[in-house]
Amino acid sequence: MSENKDFVSVVTGGAGFLGSHLCDYLLAQGQRVICLDNLLTGNLANIEHLAGNERFKFIKQDVTEYIYLPGQVDFVYHFASPASPIDYLELPIQTLKVGALGTHKALGLAKTKQAGFLLASTSETYGDPLVHPQPESYWGNVNPIGPRGVYDEAKRFAEAMTMAYHRYHGVNTHIVRIFNTYGPRMRPRDGRVVPAFISEALKNEPLTVFGDGSQTRSFCYVADLIAGIFRLAQSDYHEPVNIGNPQEMTVRTFAEKIRALCGSTAPIVSKPLPVDDPKVRQPNIALARKLLGWEPKVSLDEGLTATIAYFRGLLARGAL
Ligand code: NAD
Ligand code: UDP
Repeated sequence: MSENKDFVSVVTGGAGFLGSHLCDYLLAQGQRVICLDNLLTGNLANIEHLAGNERFKFIKQDVTEYIYLPGQVDFVYHFASPASPIDYLELPIQTLKVGALGTHKALGLAKTKQAGFLLASTSETYGDPLVHPQPESYWGNVNPIGPRGVYDEAKRFAEAMTMAYHRYHGVNTHIVRIFNTYGPRMRPRDGRVVPAFISEALKNEPLTVFGDGSQTRSFCYVADLIAGIFRLAQSDYHEPVNIGNPQEMTVRTFAEKIRALCGSTAPIVSKPLPVDDPKVRQPNIALARKLLGWEPKVSLDEGLTATIAYFRGLLARGAL
């Protein structure tokens, strides 16, 4: 599909962090792109460089409402959803609705247009995992009624809905389980650990580690993630595939690394650990390696250096 200049992709959530990078990538493949976003947690600044590109169109739309799009659509990437723990704690109903109703509408669009479909799912479907690292075959350990349940269960429902459209309607669907991904265009105050630590370090403020910082995460650079997702969209595999970087570290070590890269001299301080914060997280990417011939290429130092440069730019413009 990368060769066809008339190929039309729809990206829901395309004005967000990952969605905007996906729009860039698809345009670079020669595709036409329609971005649907209600700007709930996204930002037009993420796609302002695409204004005037005749192959790109932005439509302000809440995808929990019926999606009417005249004309050809060949592929639907469903990325719309609050994604940071702070966002989905503040927007619990919108999070449940976009995972459930939004996924239904996006799948309905794909079915009507006989288009392919890819769901942006998450490592949160594994909850606070009891299997480590997490393979796709693990069913997870999710607290459905805890504060994070609105996100985790919405995504689990979204996966079930996607498989149902594949099995019962024959839609060519794909599911990516995205592990912590970072890069330029993350919102400075979205509460996720990368923008939080970098903003704090660049302002020489204390870095706020939640709990004792012994919980682990594994961070993937956005360019690696998008390349993996594009390969998955072209595959004929329909069950979930993990995409992430298996390099795991404690949150405290991560804070120390960012502090050093930013040249900050501020201390690291502790804040209370959020409820149900997963204790460990590391993707098992054996399936992505085998199926897609994909693995991450960007080192943590390279990725963080590019991300820090972006945040320095925001700081210089008084936007941090
Ligand atoms: P983001 O908040 O930057 O982007 C989400 C976008 O969805 C925003 O532009 C927002 O305005 C839009 N949106 C939300 N509700 C909508 C609705 N009802 N209608 C239309 N648009 C709506 O977050 P992100 O990090 O770019 O995440 C994108 C997707 O990837 C999400 O589905 C998220 O669950 C998934 N994901 C991201 C990560 C990560 O590490 N970044 C990890 C796992 C999963
Ligand atoms: N975290 C932290 N300080 C912050 C923000 C987050 O110590 O200012 C921790 C958080 O408790 C979690 C990890 O960093 O253990 C990753 O948090 P994030 O919100 O980025 O996403 P999560 O992986 O929890 O979905």
